[in-house]
Amino acid sequence: MLCDAHTHIETQAQVSSYARQNIFCVASGGTPDECADLLALRGAYGGMSVSFGLHPWYADRYSLEQMEPYLCKASIIGEIGLDSVWCQVDPGRQREIFLRQLDFAQQRRLPVILHTKGCEQECAALLSRYTMPKVIHWYSCEHHLEHFLEQDCYFTIGPSVRQDPNVLAVAERAPLRRLLVETDGLSGIRWALGRDLTTRHLGAVLRSSIEAIAALRGLTPAEVEKLVFDNYSSLFTRGLPQSPAANHGV
Ligand SMILES: [Zn+2]
Repeated sequence: MLCDAHTHIETQAQVSSYARQNIFCVASGGTPDECADLLALRGAYGGMSVSFGLHPWYADRYSLEQMEPYLCKASIIGEIGLDSVWCQVDPGRQREIFLRQLDFAQQRRLPVILHTKGCEQECAALLSRYTMPKVIHWYSCEHHLEHFLEQDCYFTIGPSVRQDPNVLAVAERAPLRRLLVETDGLSGIRWALGRDLTTRHLGAVLRSSIEAIAALRGLTPAEVEKLVFDNYSSLFTRGLPQSPAANHGV
């Protein structure tokens, strides 16, 4: 059973595609509008979980009070974090929003999905104060991986695992019981692979990452698929249905 531990979903057609391919997924809402859209879409597919958190790119456009109704509905918080590469948002504002959301998750013992782009060292230092389950999303920094390994973090391996030696290093070094795979949605796949794939290819993209991990770790793809599923199940869900398509009509 395939699991996409971090994705972005915008349409009913994308939800249906996950359902048709029997792929469990965690879809992330990074703004109040995205969260509202995901709540409307979620009911259609029992295998879809949601994670909510004000994304660092939007930390200056929304208040945390605007996000709060959605945070209160979430059983997974994220993606949250810091970014000094892909956005111009004031670092102090990013840090304030990040820390308040970490406090929220810690109080409720909720897992967090983390965006660390360009701020890996600072994120590791801030995270070391917290004990909730931490999921490092598509880590691709050449440095500082050991600080996240020390904290027993989970890692979602991104679709660039075959192209990016830094992603490969994560797939090689993360404990097997902490490995997950992700697509980051269609835009993430496009960015990583430079090809305009459609939702029909979601399963193939995840399988390709699983095969790359299997080759690195001396396991079969079936063994890696099973351990990734077990990690996903124990981390994100309580009482998954037998099949993600079993309890709905998509
Ligand atoms: Zn993402």
